[in-house]
Amino acid sequence: MITDINNAHRLESDPAEKTEQTIEDHFAEIENYVNGFASGPTFSDHCGLESQFFPPANFFSDEELKLICRAFEKMMMTYNLTIDYSENVPISLVYEMIIRTLESKTSITNHGMLHFDYCSGYAPDCPWKGFCPCLEI
Ligand SMILES: [Zn+2]
Repeated sequence: MITDINNAHRLESDPAEKTEQTIEDHFAEIENYVNGFASGPTFSDHCGLESQFFPPANFFSDEELKLICRAFEKMMMTYNLTIDYSENVPISLVYEMIIRTLESKTSITNHGMLHFDYCSGYAPDCPWKGFCPCLEI
């Protein structure tokens, strides 16, 4: 499974990354950033991994979950994506949430990072279930 995740890394030889960035591109990227997760294909479409490929968290030991999450987050970084969560979040919940990123619509930017945090700031709706700083606000 780790191998599959590693194979999903964005290709280094992406020709789009080598071309000079034009002003138009620059504004297009800002627009992508603003539109964020509301439009476009899902992360699954970008990286080729599908959420149904991942078994439920209780299928793995905590150690295995840690390895999978680390590999997955590394793979996300190659797409300039990252997921934000507090350090006290149980690894099984982190696992569920990183799998959820595959279903999330996202554009891929070549500049800067897009952050998934899933928190609306409204604690009762927060998918981090009490492990989120929004509770303290
Ligand atoms: Zn929250």
